Amino acid sequence: MKIVKIIQWDMGHRVLNHRSICRGLHGHRYKVEICVSGDLVSKPDVSEEGMVIDFADIKKISNHFIHEKLDHAFMVWEKDEELIKFFKQSKGHKPVIVPFTPTAENVAAYIFNRLQDKFQDIYKTGLHLHSIKLWETPTSYALYEKVDLYEL
Ligand SMILES: [Zn+2]
Repeated sequence: MKIVKIIQWDMGHRVLNHRSICRGLHGHRYKVEICVSGDLVSKPDVSEEGMVIDFADIKKISNHFIHEKLDHAFMVWEKDEELIKFFKQSKGHKPVIVPFTPTAENVAAYIFNRLQDKFQDIYKTGLHLHSIKLWETPTSYALYEKVDLYEL
């Protein structure tokens, strides 16, 4: 069974080598669909009985990273020398320096990799992070998913 929790946040970025307007500084209302997979908890009399995981726990686990680290931040590629220099000189900003150009595809994989280990399989149901669907605009998303070995 798969369940999905949606989280949104605001973040700036630029795609330095983009051929068009995406190379300029701008921001998005990002939306991420966090999909968690596993069997239903069958242990009786626990809060999670009949669930894959509590939706509130997906939110709590994910926001620990997304809201604290990414909300109202500006994602900067470490090779973007102009912006790296700016953020070194200027205070009051929230730069997130990453080793990749911050396209939707790379940000989706980044979030997946940051959250993957945070989902503990407490009830031995095979609980794990299945995919991250990152909406950069209302009509564009990147989907990062790992193939589940037991589904092959
Ligand atoms: Zn953009």
